Amino acid sequence: MSADVLVVIERRGAAPVRAALEATGVARRLAGPSGAGRVTAVLLGTALEASAGTIAGLGVDRVITVSDPRFDTFQTALWAAAVAAIARELSSSVILLAGTNNGRQLAGRIAIRWDAAAVTGIADLSPGAAGEITVTRPVFSGRAFQEVRIGAPRVVLGLRPNAFPIPEASSPPAPIAEHAPLELGPLPSGGAVTGFESAQSGIGPDLSDATVIVSGGRGLKGPENFRLLEELALSLGAAIGASRAVTDSGWRPASFQIGQTGKSVSPQLYIAVGISGAIQHLVGMISSRTIVAINSDPSAPIFKVADYGIAGDLFQIVPALTAEIRRVRGS
Ligand SMILES: Cc1cc2nc3c(=O)[nH]c(=O)nc-3n(C[C@H](O)[C@H](O)[C@H](O)COP(=O)(O)OP(=O)(O)OC[C@H]3O[C@@H](n4cnc5c(N)ncnc54)[C@H](O)[C@@H]3O)c2cc1C
Repeated sequence: MSADVLVVIERRGAAPVRAALEATGVARRLAGPSGAGRVTAVLLGTALEASAGTIAGLGVDRVITVSDPRFDTFQTALWAAAVAAIARELSSSVILLAGTNNGRQLAGRIAIRWDAAAVTGIADLSPGAAGEITVTRPVFSGRAFQEVRIGAPRVVLGLRPNAFPIPEASSPPAPIAEHAPLELGPLPSGGAVTGFESAQSGIGPDLSDATVIVSGGRGLKGPENFRLLEELALSLGAAIGASRAVTDSGWRPASFQIGQTGKSVSPQLYIAVGISGAIQHLVGMISSRTIVAINSDPSAPIFKVADYGIAGDLFQIVPALTAEIRRVRGS
């Protein structure tokens, strides 16, 4: 049995966030080929045309826009009420949320409003023949994967970022329709996210969106040596992350921290440089597709989770690696 999926498209500025693009591909997988289940993408806010056009070309069946300036800031209660109302109207069976902070916040609220089950942090999923959905997600700080089989008639699913590919552009594009103004009644007041500021070093993509991350630990010995990582990151088009030892020491701002009390990332490639691999760090990066560790201590725990390990001095290895990448790439 195929699902009717409503996928919520979050934007940053004029463009959908990468995690939302990933979600459209997952929505198609859940709904089955066009003609089986239906995928509806919904965008909320103003100046939605460009984003709606992008999403319409990614294999969805239709795009609904709700042009309303109230959605230009992110207020969880307001967004949850709007998405739940649209899902009711369309008789959707699945609401799919991108792997973002806002997506994580929305899941529970929508589930309550829509009387649905909710599962977040999903790293993989597959629809079953009887309409059930089996999802896989990391648990116990990434030490194990849990498989959850969901048979509820309505379910809210939140994805992990970078765990799914962005779908290929498809043609013809899906139709785009403007929704009538939403009457949402009285809502609880609360804070609003009014904007996002990139806290990155100015090189490479944002940490949460990056497909390659070069991350540094105390093994770098001091903030000045982060230039080695910056050069490696530049050669790879990567973002830079850090362990808590680094952010606690003030070598890099807290926004760089990856782990239990920092960011969770799932890039295609994670290069851990001079990081021991404490469990609190691993929990934030364990679901990276490929992990490379560079550490002078061959017994460092990071090697237990690494796909490729280089036991040696980072001050020799990182410059050599950067030079070789530049040579191969001709840059
Ligand atoms: C409640 C709580 C929450 C926490 N949350 C987080 C979190 O979110 N993120 C996080 O990262 N940590 C977190 N921590 C801290 C965590 O336990 C570790 O202390 C921290 O991750 C260690 O950082 P590190 O690996 O950079 O430093 P260390 O553990 O000091 O490791 C440095 C590594 O560098 C290697 N090294 C040294 N010199 C070289 C060299 N020349 N070449 C190559 N390798 C070298 C060493 O062999 C060593 O393995 C948390 C701790 C607690 C208690």
